[in-house]
Amino acid sequence: MAELRFSALKEVFSREPVELNLPKATVSSYFADNVFDKLKMERYLSREAYRAVITAIDEGTPITRPIADQVATGMQAWAMERGVTHFTHWFHPLTDATAEKHDSFVGRGERGTIIEIFSGAVLVQQEPDASSFPSGGIRNTFEARGYTAWDVSSPAFIVDSTLCIPTVFISYTGEALDYKTPLLRSLAALDRAAVEVCHFFDKDIKKVMATLGWEQEYFLIDEALYYARPDLVLADRTLMGHQSAKDQQLSDHYFGSIPERVKAFMRDFEFEAYKLGIPVKTRHNEVAPNQFECAPVYEEANLAVDHNQLIMDVMRRVARKHKFRVLFHEKPFAEINGSGKHNNWSMATDTGVNLLSPGKNPKSNMQFLTFLVNVVKAVNDNQELLRASVTNENNSWRLGGHEAPPSIISVFLGTYISDILEDIASKVKDKKMTPQEKTEIKLGLGKIPCIFLDNTDRNRTSPFAFTGNRFEFRAVGSSANCSSAMIVLNAAVARQLKNFAREVNALIGKGRKKDEAIFQVLKKSIIDSERIRFEGDGYSEEWHREALRRGLSADSSVPRTLKAYMSDSARETLVGTGTLTDREIESRVEVELEKFTKKVQIEGRVLGDLAINHIVPTAVCYMTTLIDNVKGLRDIFDENEYMRLAGARKDLIVTISDHISLIKKLCSEMISERRKANTIEDPYKKALTYESKVKPFLEEIRSHIDKLELVVDNEMWPLPKYRELLFTR
Ligand code: ADP
Ligand code: MG
Repeated sequence: MAELRFSALKEVFSREPVELNLPKATVSSYFADNVFDKLKMERYLSREAYRAVITAIDEGTPITRPIADQVATGMQAWAMERGVTHFTHWFHPLTDATAEKHDSFVGRGERGTIIEIFSGAVLVQQEPDASSFPSGGIRNTFEARGYTAWDVSSPAFIVDSTLCIPTVFISYTGEALDYKTPLLRSLAALDRAAVEVCHFFDKDIKKVMATLGWEQEYFLIDEALYYARPDLVLADRTLMGHQSAKDQQLSDHYFGSIPERVKAFMRDFEFEAYKLGIPVKTRHNEVAPNQFECAPVYEEANLAVDHNQLIMDVMRRVARKHKFRVLFHEKPFAEINGSGKHNNWSMATDTGVNLLSPGKNPKSNMQFLTFLVNVVKAVNDNQELLRASVTNENNSWRLGGHEAPPSIISVFLGTYISDILEDIASKVKDKKMTPQEKTEIKLGLGKIPCIFLDNTDRNRTSPFAFTGNRFEFRAVGSSANCSSAMIVLNAAVARQLKNFAREVNALIGKGRKKDEAIFQVLKKSIIDSERIRFEGDGYSEEWHREALRRGLSADSSVPRTLKAYMSDSARETLVGTGTLTDREIESRVEVELEKFTKKVQIEGRVLGDLAINHIVPTAVCYMTTLIDNVKGLRDIFDENEYMRLAGARKDLIVTISDHISLIKKLCSEMISERRKANTIEDPYKKALTYESKVKPFLEEIRSHIDKLELVVDNEMWPLPKYRELLFTR
């Protein structure tokens, strides 16, 4: 039974790092080689087409058909020079992956001969037969068509011999079926609202874009061991496995020297990433054994999201060459750290200013504080929705654990910034302020020092922390599409900035000076969002109690948390900013609920299968040897001696037998709960039932298996153990 495990281990022991044949050239000499970026556009397009595309990217203007034809021709010429034979629209359906359907350039020419063609029409729009993607009821079969449409703002790229064109994915009736559509809408809403607020300070600003720098955590597992663990193969996480005697207690993995095989893998996928124009920068060992992180230099948020989806794909592919599997799951192993995807987020202007970076004078600091306070207020007003945006089955195993961000949303600002906010709240008067009072406040603002950037306290227990020139949203799951969180954050901040501008203008209308109006609205926002600010230990019991007292939500139920998307406040944020329609929200929640139910169902099935077909037979085998042993003792010893010797063995037999009985009983109970839950039609009730009636079995059954692992003969145990999965490479 343990053959597969031991042969896998043997295979791993014989592994060597893959020999790389990477060019000696500098990264900048091949960076973005496989991307149809502005440089290539200028080279391969007519001046007219090039200008039209640049304007479309910068200003969102539509592209005419003749221009699209020109772009298609240029793009095709560039791609074919690189041996490309196929093209695909590349999109982000509401699954955990990206989707592509390849078509070759091959077509019939006018005289019936076969030639390579690519036209503006197919560049701009495609109609993939995509009726199998989740749509939450938006696409019934009679309107099953979904369209993909070119996203000009994200450049086309080449993977192997395929030209990939980033697209949105919408239904026949124009509704979003993907992550990108609402992301683009939320970015546009943020742009509009932020520019209006910027104009209080600087009339030259024409555009504000969100910036995103993600940090991607992941585990690497040797391929042979991976294949010996059906739970990893089918459920992306281990559903059983006793904690290794040593894992991360000594903190000796974090930032440790990177193992050779792993380093070869990293260099290899980074090379691929560079060619795709992904500016990866940081690599290091993470806290858990075999856990690592990579992070790029931040980019415009839409591009950053595409690059994150793309790099996950690249990593998966390159890993296979190195006989590794990448685990992006949020909690592949119990008892040790899970993986997140920290979303570092800020806003940048077309004049090159980071709106969340402290400035050099009172005016720029006032702009900085305005945006900072509005983000805090937005998080305060949308804390439930933000929680919902990162909540799913995978992340439910991670969030709230004592290594991951708590499942309660709060904002960490550090004492320095907190003091400034307190200062404003206490000094600004609601009545007309004297010039003396205003000067005093402004003087205070002028003193925010630049060294502050390196000075930020690092509170790792906060799910939403200010880190000097950006916010870091840490609750995002490692396997998630960043969009889900970014859509909500952009929309929430857009809504808040819109309200802010309105309130300031109203005060100005009442005769207040602009600066005074801004201070007064800021003061109100600071006071109104006091409850979301928390500087202490987010893992502590006291915070949990305190957060509830403050009215922050802490419900750990996934389906109930997802319901936050349907609240009036959430709709004001999402529908009010034009990010999602009511119907799109409903469909998304339905998709998420179904995903949750299906994942628990799959995990239940896999665990049941492993428990009954792998673990129980192994335990029975070992029990039989023990029984034979006891019988043997009786044969060769007299009664007294036998009684003395057999006691411990008999106890062990009873222990094993009890675990076996309980595993069998629990497995059949779990199956009958699943059967009952499966008859429920309503997706919300079904998910709730799966959560309360089925999900608890996963932990319970596992606990018996994990105890068996400790007593059953190691030679017989069929699945690679945690110490092997985590320490063999
Ligand atoms: P740490 O682990 O210390 O938080 P990392 O260097 O791993 O930091 O990651 C920080 C990320 O934040 C990087 O992707 C970086 O580019 C990004 N970042 C820095 N400035 C901004 C900004 N203004 N907007 C968005 N992301 C940013
Ligand atoms: Mg970070």
